[in-house]
Amino acid sequence: MISLALIAHDGKKPEMVSFVMRHKDILEKCNIFATGTTGGFIEREGFKVNKLLSGPKGGDAQIAAMLAEGNIDCVIFFRDPLDKHPHEPDVQMLMRIADVHNIPLATNPKTAFYILRGIEATINDSFEN
Ligand code: PGA
Repeated sequence: MISLALIAHDGKKPEMVSFVMRHKDILEKCNIFATGTTGGFIEREGFKVNKLLSGPKGGDAQIAAMLAEGNIDCVIFFRDPLDKHPHEPDVQMLMRIADVHNIPLATNPKTAFYILRGIEATINDSFEN
């Protein structure tokens, strides 16, 4: 099963909720991890979520560690480019680790959509083979 991390800064949480609702079919076939507050929002829409700490309390760092250990296959991180974040160093670290390990990371809904299309194709392939 594909493991997917979902993270949204506060200004992007409504966008994340509408994104997960639009793509419920495929997301329900994934093992979802999320930072604490984002995870709470997604859970309320009926998803099963493995919640980590809230981003500012270390949740992004936890996800980065999971990427480094090979436990997460891709990341959807709706960052808010119009706001400041006390945990910006953790955000940068997460993105760096994703690049070090060649892990797909989407920072906006359109890119995330293409990642989901890729996941869908991967799932369909494994059924056919
Ligand atoms: P949150 O963390 O889901 O706990 O709000 C996200 C973030 O700000 O990195």
